[in-house]
Amino acid sequence: MSLLALQTELADELETIRASGRWRELRAAQSPPTVTFVREDRTWLNFSSNDYLGLATHPRLIAAAQTATAAWGVGATASRLICGTLTLHSALETALVDFKVGGQPGYRALLFNSGYHANLALLATLAGAGDVIFSDALNHASLIDGCRLSRATVVVYRHNDVDDLRAKLAEHPRARRKLIVTEAVFSMDGDVAPLDELLALAEAFGAWVVLDEAHATGVLGPHGRGLAATVASADHPLITMGTLSKALGSFGAFVVAPEVVIELLTNRARPFIFTTALPPAPVAAALEAVCLLQESDQLVRMLRANIVEMATALGLPPTWPTPIFPVVLGSEQAVMYAMQTLQDAGFYVVGIRPPTVPPGASRLRLTVTAAHTEAQIGAVAKAIRAICRPPA
Ligand code: PMP
Repeated sequence: MSLLALQTELADELETIRASGRWRELRAAQSPPTVTFVREDRTWLNFSSNDYLGLATHPRLIAAAQTATAAWGVGATASRLICGTLTLHSALETALVDFKVGGQPGYRALLFNSGYHANLALLATLAGAGDVIFSDALNHASLIDGCRLSRATVVVYRHNDVDDLRAKLAEHPRARRKLIVTEAVFSMDGDVAPLDELLALAEAFGAWVVLDEAHATGVLGPHGRGLAATVASADHPLITMGTLSKALGSFGAFVVAPEVVIELLTNRARPFIFTTALPPAPVAAALEAVCLLQESDQLVRMLRANIVEMATALGLPPTWPTPIFPVVLGSEQAVMYAMQTLQDAGFYVVGIRPPTVPPGASRLRLTVTAAHTEAQIGAVAKAIRAICRPPA
């Protein structure tokens, strides 16, 4: 193929995207994207970040990253299995086992370079041909891609629908291995998986539960230990992953699971083996975040207070469980209009459209953090209610 033919073919593909109204482009922030930030020389009030506890710019995390960089340098130099494992990685893994499962014997943690890597690794390592993965219909793209990579049969059950899952589990009595895969907090809907019931089903059907705690870590449970820390039964082995990049303010991800799972991941998981280890700075910062949360639940309590504040201001029940607020408007046009109106007023709120959410379910996605003030929350909620008010 000539260069010209290649250019024409790719330009056509781009034109299709543009014509669909789903064109995406990058815009750089001129200051850290905290509660207020500068972009395109304008100051924005931010309701879009996953920095739920405001830790990304916390002085203790910054100091930890600086100290680690001074001591260890900026890069880990190789993959974990070559010479990239530093005592810093091991210290964070130990701290995560303490944080997530109270140091329960038989459990270990393994770091990954991102949540995306962790989910690909987990699913492709734990499942293969002859196995069945039961996957919630609203699972994140990284879980969907992990399912694909595994070559297992994938059965999608209706979102958070335990009856549908039970029926589907019953249809596959002879599967070699059965994995139930779900997010703990759904990233686009802000609702929570019925973990107790999923564990009971797993027990009944001889399945395992893989729980993505990306948006639950630092948010749910005592001291932000996650959804798994809130379930009554510790008997059933639970395989959890979480990110260091959302409420923990840093970068990277982890799996906490029974030791055999961690050993298998270390030996088999290609997204773990064939990539350079996380650099010292984010590892040290995440370790500091975990220490901070172990010491005090003050930030988690501040976040919860702001969740109640936002829920009330938007007219939702004050029991709304998470800092993610979907305002479903339906059509892509309605969302684009609402987003533009809010952005014109200085509120940075993003619109989420297909393929991230199903067609007809386009929405504004707001997040609230521990660092927002009551006045900021009130102001955005008022603006949203004005847009969403039905025409007289
Ligand atoms: N799982 C879920 C539910 C997520 O929302 C995300 C990130 N948006 C990931 C996994 C991937 O995590 P990371 O950003 O660390 O790759």
